[in-house]
Amino acid sequence: MIYADNAATTKMSRAAMDAMSACMADCWGNPSSLYAHGQRAKEVLEDARERIAACLGCSAREVTFTSGGSEADNQAILTAARLGEKQGKKHIVSTAFEHHAVLHVLEKLEKEGFEVTLLDVHRDGIVTAQQVEDAIRADTCLVTVMYANNEIGTIQPISEIGQVCRRKGVLFHTDAVQAAGHIPVSFREQYIDMLSLSAHKFHGPKGIGALVARKGVRLEPLIHGGAQERGKRAGTENLPAIVGMAAALEEACRNLEQNAERMSALRDRLIDGLDQIPYGELNGSRKDRLPGNVNFCFEGIEGESLLLLLDDKGICASSGSACTSGSLDPSHVLLAIGRPHEVAHGSLRLSISEETTPQEVETIISSVADVVDYLRNMSPFWRDLMTGKRQHVFDK
Ligand SMILES: *Cc1c(COP(=O)(O)O)cnc(C)c1O
Repeated sequence: MIYADNAATTKMSRAAMDAMSACMADCWGNPSSLYAHGQRAKEVLEDARERIAACLGCSAREVTFTSGGSEADNQAILTAARLGEKQGKKHIVSTAFEHHAVLHVLEKLEKEGFEVTLLDVHRDGIVTAQQVEDAIRADTCLVTVMYANNEIGTIQPISEIGQVCRRKGVLFHTDAVQAAGHIPVSFREQYIDMLSLSAHKFHGPKGIGALVARKGVRLEPLIHGGAQERGKRAGTENLPAIVGMAAALEEACRNLEQNAERMSALRDRLIDGLDQIPYGELNGSRKDRLPGNVNFCFEGIEGESLLLLLDDKGICASSGSACTSGSLDPSHVLLAIGRPHEVAHGSLRLSISEETTPQEVETIISSVADVVDYLRNMSPFWRDLMTGKRQHVFDK
């Protein structure tokens, strides 16, 4: 099997698994208990928090553990909304290509009377700090812009957007789920107020993540109960998962440059190879792009059929985000960068990891070329394009 869907989830690292089993065997006490066995768990918890903070350029007190990226996004946005409401500020700035964990919370807030400005995304998949600045109003309580997009892998100018928000006195949240552990992230230096991350996107376990919130930003709890996480998130801590996340993030950050360099080279080879297929185009900037992300649109094919045939060849890929598979709507991300519906349906996302080999990349290229060819040969839509009954979207 060739696994090329690392943006959906990653295989756990050996380091994460080892840290987790050691924790489960020896450190199963409740960190809130006062006897030594509980206090030992508490130490392990705080040690993990410090190690995670060190990787992200924040202080340990700024890290709150959550059940993952979705919960962190929800909590960040609802915190800003509640704070804003108290000050009579009910306007939020975001982008049209956020993850649904952000967009659906914003939709909920709109129903409660908030006004949301979703910035257009340039066709290269980037939103500029100038766009953010122009959208901020006197009643803006939050700017939320993702660090790197989960479908097309484009990296946003986070430091510049952070600077604009800090200057304007507006809270800035970034969904850094695709960025953390893959590209450099520095919470404090990039003027970020709140940041979401999720362990299973960097070879840690599923169901654990964190919301980093700058000192002075009082997080609004989503889960009420005990005083865990300093009252910001009730419930007995998922210590094995937290320890696994710390181990995975440390390893990812330690090898970040080396991995990024190696993966970018493979990614570029993959892009060049797929670019040889006629009437297809890379989605998003080639330059400001995650080291592991390749996303193409091909004319005259259905993304779903492409995935099923690739699966037959042992290749795991995706047409966009795992969250939208099963729905027939084209990706909101591809529509946001201006891809027309008929092309947005023919998308393919390949997300490689540090374990991907050059041989696997070559196999992917030839398999995709074969499958695209096969599907086009039996597509009436493609026949219309070939006979000139229908116009091509791409020029070659
Ligand atoms: C995966 C992902 C999420 C959701 O994280 P979970 O831990 O699966 O809840 C949120 N945002 C982005 C950009 C993602 O890629």
